[in-house]
Amino acid sequence: MGKVLIIGAGGVGNVVVRKCARTPETFTDICLASRTREKCDRIAADLDRPIETAQVDADSKAEVAELIRRFGPDLVINVALPYQDLAIMDACLETGVDYLDTASYEPPDVPAFTYDWQWPYDEPYRKAGIMGLLGSGFDPGVTNVFCAYAQKHFFDEIHYVDILDANAGDHGYPFATNFNPEINIREISAKGRYWENGQWVETEPLALKETYDFPEIGPKDIYLLYHEEMESLVKHLKGLKRIRFWMTFSEKYLTHLNVLQNVGMTSIEPVEFEGRKIVPLQFLKAILPDPGTLGPRTKGKTNIGCVIEGIKDGRRKKIHIYNVCDHQECYGEVKSQAVSYTTGVPAMIGAMLMLEGIWKKPGVFNMEQLDPDPFMERLNQHGLPWKTRELPLE
Ligand code: NDP
Repeated sequence: MGKVLIIGAGGVGNVVVRKCARTPETFTDICLASRTREKCDRIAADLDRPIETAQVDADSKAEVAELIRRFGPDLVINVALPYQDLAIMDACLETGVDYLDTASYEPPDVPAFTYDWQWPYDEPYRKAGIMGLLGSGFDPGVTNVFCAYAQKHFFDEIHYVDILDANAGDHGYPFATNFNPEINIREISAKGRYWENGQWVETEPLALKETYDFPEIGPKDIYLLYHEEMESLVKHLKGLKRIRFWMTFSEKYLTHLNVLQNVGMTSIEPVEFEGRKIVPLQFLKAILPDPGTLGPRTKGKTNIGCVIEGIKDGRRKKIHIYNVCDHQECYGEVKSQAVSYTTGVPAMIGAMLMLEGIWKKPGVFNMEQLDPDPFMERLNQHGLPWKTRELPLE
């Protein structure tokens, strides 16, 4: 059906390319490009069908545009880092090619977590007749689709949403992050924020804590964080009164993080060291275990989903839609643990729906703006089956 250029050969890129390679009827030709070409070549050598690989610095619009012209894709899947989003979106605009990512743009020097930079591309993309799909990972991504599905099938009005992201995986290290440490630590050391009665309420980092009993995982401590999908869901869900995002962290993880923060190791302010400037968080990333190596060691499950309360036919109702993913099973299938798997599979599904013309329309969209049904169907087919359960009302 079409040619795809995948940019980024990290944990998520590895899953996306393996999943795309297994669906040749949709992804007829694949090019995997990244800053370090050897990483692309290593993955390519382990696939059952030939793909192209390339070196690209995706901070440079000109380099990405040149690669697009050379390979001629119908769609670019951006699974590099959030810093590259705008350069890649610009290159897609210049060359008239569709775009998909899994994380909102962030300027390297300010942790921002907002679509303010990417939403303005809607008009130029519409004029150019191309599509940009934003946040086609798990959260953002599947969680947005879960909300759209609930809105379409289970509720007349959605009032309360709690997005719950649990990772009960154990990699055996005292401290490591499951995906890019820099992005992960920036996210959780930022202030918490949730939306209630038409406004954002800010909290100190990790100040709100509860315990939730997750299906197939059991009770876990969950902490309130700000997460980017709330920004678009607030705009697109009817009648919403409150939306919050919660993530599990173990006490051991938080103790390490506290120490690292207290000594300044999570700072993104450059410091002078032996005559050169270094960013402490980037140095920390260099000495922590590479998330790509955690796969074979990680045991346990993830459970990510949405608890949604609202009104159907005049009656209050509360449901939980979620997916459970097993780290070891993911590794057995694609040589990545569940955190990369749960991001890479939805990126592949979003790309598939665009290439097949099912989700294809000009403009820039968040996931909940598109028909959730075909996406939900493919989650079941491609390794992320979901379940729903009705919860008692308090
Ligand atoms: P990794 O750090 O494992 O991989 C990032 C890849 O991008 C690496 O191959 C890296 O190259 C490459 N890269 C970095 N900078 C450039 C550049 N300037 N030009 C070309 N390539 C570059 O990250 P992940 O795979 O874990 O994450 C990928 C994306 O997925 C991130 O944006 C992350 O925020 C997002 N994500 C989204 C989730 C969701 O649910 N929505 C969940 C988890 C992640 P090199 O190897 O040379 O460093």
